[in-house]
Amino acid sequence: MSIPLIEARGLVKSYGSFRAVDGISFAVQQGECFGFLGPNGAGKSTTIRMICCTSPIGGGELHVAGLDPSRQARAIKARLGIVPQEDSLDPDLPVRQNLEVYARYYGVPRALARERIAESLALFQLTEKAESPVGDLSGGMKRRLVIARSLVNDPEILVLDEPTTGLDPQARHLVWQKLRMLRARGVTMLLTTHYMDEASHLCDRLVIMHRGHILAEGNPHDLIRDYAGEVVLELRMGTGDRAPLLGELTGIDGVAIEEVEDIVYIFEAGDAARQLAARIADPALAFLRPGNLEDVFLRLTGRGLLD
Ligand code: ADP
Repeated sequence: MSIPLIEARGLVKSYGSFRAVDGISFAVQQGECFGFLGPNGAGKSTTIRMICCTSPIGGGELHVAGLDPSRQARAIKARLGIVPQEDSLDPDLPVRQNLEVYARYYGVPRALARERIAESLALFQLTEKAESPVGDLSGGMKRRLVIARSLVNDPEILVLDEPTTGLDPQARHLVWQKLRMLRARGVTMLLTTHYMDEASHLCDRLVIMHRGHILAEGNPHDLIRDYAGEVVLELRMGTGDRAPLLGELTGIDGVAIEEVEDIVYIFEAGDAARQLAARIADPALAFLRPGNLEDVFLRLTGRGLLD
């Protein structure tokens, strides 16, 4: 395997005696989209901040593009494109000028900046809005503009912190489409998200974090196979009705049962759940569906609210 673009070994960050990131290790390869998933407080943003050199590491090792964040922060920052959660655009300036200000900040020569800005606006379908004030844009357009802006310094690594939070489905799909296009061009992406479908659509590999630890790592397909099973059967029936059915399934190799209030989830890779669903033959009572990343996430991090 090639040398990773980002590599963390035993990475730690403490606030007082509290370890927000507690000795995590991961490697991001050139050109992949790597996701950090986890409930609130898992340590995702803290990890991203260390990668972006806005927060010093508290222990362990971290290398970004072969560089050391504690000594070479400037050189690392020059290689990053940052898409923060908050739009941080200047609402009084027109779209194009927002990008020009950013390009100047990164010291991009004028002619080159003009070229990149035109390309970026076209890529994100914003050319027609170039002279409009940012305040006139929809939420989806502002998100696209922030991503377009992050490309002005031609970054090697794009860091996206919850890139589609708050967008409606159409706008989210358009942003995903653009991000997939960037990935196809070879841009390495780091992504934090709460949306499992977003992670499934975009991530080549991801880690699931919880309380400062990495609980699982892999590509979405393998994680689903390993932690959710190929199919999930949801039983929606009273405790008395479901007890004998669960009795039949208990102890079958590869079957895991989780009872959550009024629904029972049966995870498995084999055929028992399929056969049971066929026998009941009423989708309102027994609903069979493919396993998904949300199942993986909830099984690993639990169903309790964390804040
Ligand atoms: P996530 O991004 O996964 O929601 P964070 O990385 O923001 O999680 O936070 C991880 C933990 O570290 C949380 O418990 C949070 O309260 C704590 N934390 C984050 N930043 C600070 C800080 N500057 N001072 C003290 N505690 C912090």
